[in-house]
Amino acid sequence: MHSDNPEDSGPGSGPDPSRPVAPLEQALHAARALVLADLEAGDVARPDIVSLVEESVAHRRWWVEQWPEGVAYVSGLVAQDVQDALLERYGRWPVCPVCAEGDPHALDVEPELGPDPHWVCGKAGVVVAAVGTLRAAAGPGEPGGTGGS
Ligand SMILES: [Zn+2]
Repeated sequence: MHSDNPEDSGPGSGPDPSRPVAPLEQALHAARALVLADLEAGDVARPDIVSLVEESVAHRRWWVEQWPEGVAYVSGLVAQDVQDALLERYGRWPVCPVCAEGDPHALDVEPELGPDPHWVCGKAGVVVAAVGTLRAAAGPGEPGGTGGS
């Protein structure tokens, strides 16, 4: 009767099985997917721009390791990082789809530091879409690219 060992629970004797996949990795993965979806909605998901997302995600991984409480905020922060990086290299992003007339302007992320981030138009004061759902907000009416040269 020596096989009745409570420790003998199979080969998975490494990490605690009651512990789910690291929330940090889940949050970073989600943030990356959401921002990429919005980049694709704006037709700007080019390789050099996707690499900006990767840079931001890498930076935010470090950031959340310093401040685990901020794990819920990474989607909004990555969106803002990419927005800032695009402003230098590409221009305003994402352009507000609500204000069709007047000066084109970019949407803002709100809350800047909080969970459940949304794109808002500061000019009209409306919430345009949750981060990651810009494609739905822009609607099918936008042709995406005018072929003129
Ligand atoms: Zn607007």
